[in-house]
Parts: sequence; structure tokens; C-alpha cells
Amino acid sequence: MKKIFLVGLLVSFVVVAEVPLNIVKISNNVYALKGETSQRSKDNFGNNSTHGVIIGKKSVLLIDSGASFLGAKQIHNAIKTITEKPIKYVVNTGGQDHRWLGNDYFYQLGSNIIASQKTHDDQIARTDYHLNRLSILIGRSLNGTKPFYANETFNNKKIFNFEGTHLELYHFGEAHTVGDIIIWMPDEKIMFSGDVVFVDRMLGTGPAKNIKSWIKVFEKMAQFKPKVIVPGHGSVTNLKIATQDTYDYLIFLRDKIRKIIEDDGGILSATNINQEKFK
Ligand SMILES: [Zn+2]
Repeated sequence: MKKIFLVGLLVSFVVVAEVPLNIVKISNNVYALKGETSQRSKDNFGNNSTHGVIIGKKSVLLIDSGASFLGAKQIHNAIKTITEKPIKYVVNTGGQDHRWLGNDYFYQLGSNIIASQKTHDDQIARTDYHLNRLSILIGRSLNGTKPFYANETFNNKKIFNFEGTHLELYHFGEAHTVGDIIIWMPDEKIMFSGDVVFVDRMLGTGPAKNIKSWIKVFEKMAQFKPKVIVPGHGSVTNLKIATQDTYDYLIFLRDKIRKIIEDDGGILSATNINQEKFK
């Protein structure tokens, strides 16, 4: 009996060795939750992403709900170590899995889920794609995940007074995904960029269809001159590093691909681009 119990313990340990989220305090009431910068896995519940937390007078606003039910629960557990206040709002900054597949978990707790209309539509359009891909990458850590789409949407701009904290939400155009938004806190000059900015790791260009637009969106984001940027992936950063890791790479790709097209090269020539500079 003892032996069986021990084996059971061992198996459950081997199945999921949880990778915790790194909690980073940015100001009195603002935090970032940083997940792994590697691929989605059963151990990180798909949360290979960075999330934002703003604590209001009575409740919490969470930026991006995680890639799965268990990923959302992990985010919630991390928030519980900071505050006991309930999570009243969740904002989805884009249409990628880790931005929204934890929505259902928070909706069940009473959260209102906000996104741009384009992200809402993107969530619907790519639900099956995300769930299929996640089932391969995170396996049983996807258990319990039910897609729930944002229940409050806006087109290009939303000014939001969150319990005394002034927030500005902007959709400037397509970036990493079609409906990406940024969230600006003008009083503290903190920018939540979602997947408009990646640092510490290679940029994921997968779902991006329009690099030109992404470059423009980055430039608009940079015009705010943020002091602190909470990126979609990687560590809390500043504009200089965000520019090096994201903007310069997008410009590099655009210029290299443009050259290939001008020289009548095929798509396969793109695989020969030397990307050493961004290793
Ligand atoms: Zn992402």
C-alpha cells in the first residue's frame, strides 16, 4: 500500500514539474508575471509569456489570462501572493493563446473580459488552431480549458478609469496578431505592450502577416516614451532594449526580404538570411 502511494506520488511529480511565474514589482500597485521564454510545455501550462497586474482600490485588473485553464489558475495563484482582492477585469492584448485561453477561468470568478473587436474575432477564428497546437505542446496541462471570448470590445481606443488609475487602451493596427493593443498608464509612464514587444528571446513572427504594420505600431507605441515596458515575452524592460530586440529585428527582416524580392529570389532564399546579429 505504502509502495503504491509512493509510486503514485512519483508519477504525479514526473507528469508536471511546474515552472513558476516570476513576480516582478514595478511600482506600488503594478506587477509583471514573467513566464518561461522557451516553448509552451506541460510544465509551464503554455504560459511562455509575460503578463501584467494592476491593483486597484477594490479589485485587480489582469493583463492576459494565460494559455489554458491551469495556466490561468497558475496566474491566479501568483496574484494571490500579492493581494487578496478579486480580479474584476481581464484585458486580452492580442489573439495568441496565452493572451486569452484562460478567460473562462476568470469569467467563472466574475471577471469582465476586455479586448479589441479584432482580437475578439481572431479568438473565434483561431480557436481550433490554438487548441490543436496546445494539445500537442502541453498535453494534459490543457485539461479543463474552455474557450471564452472577450465580452466587452472596442475598436481603436478605450479610455478606462480603473478605480482611480487612468488607463488608455489603443489598437494601432496589426502587429504580432491582427487585433493587438497596448495599454498605457500615463501617470506612471508604464506601457503594457503585449506581443508588440518581445525581449530576451527571438521574436515570434508566426501569426504576423504584416511586418510593415507591426513596425508602424511599434513606432506609435514608442512615441509615448514609456519609462517601463512590460513586454509580451521576456523581462520587464525599457524602450532602448525593446527597440534593439523587436524593432531593429523587424527592420532587419523587412530590408533583407526586400532585397531578396528585388533580386528576384524565391521564398527559400529567406532561410539563408544570416541572423547572427540577433542570436
Ligand atoms: Zn505571444
